[in-house]
Amino acid sequence: MKIALIAHDGKKADMVHFLSGFKNQLNQADVELVATGTTGSHIERAGFEVKRLLSGPIGGDAQIAAMAAQKELSMVIFFRDPLDKHPHEPDVQMLMRICDVHNIPLATNPASAELMFKALTQTL
Ligand code: PGA
Repeated sequence: MKIALIAHDGKKADMVHFLSGFKNQLNQADVELVATGTTGSHIERAGFEVKRLLSGPIGGDAQIAAMAAQKELSMVIFFRDPLDKHPHEPDVQMLMRICDVHNIPLATNPASAELMFKALTQTL
């Protein structure tokens, strides 16, 4: 099972906090984490093993969208910052669209991610 993780700058601490709440499940289960570059380095520092892709603004979101389109992802967790501007907004929209096109579970805030994780870890 592969889970993609992306957090805008204002949401990176939320991502680390969120994952820390599921550390036992993530370490026990057969889960592979992939993340955009800077999000990935925050996640690594928190003690998780994660494959880091390009940083979001230079193509990381597009790499994750490509994985979603190829049905390689079980879930995308994308903590967007709705109060900030993003130079790669077209990529952000594209990633969300691709998730909808391919019916990939997509959580854009901690409340929805928590519900999805709980459902997922019950099935692991
Ligand atoms: P980052 O990219 O993890 O490299 O900061 C996230 C994004 O802004 O899409």
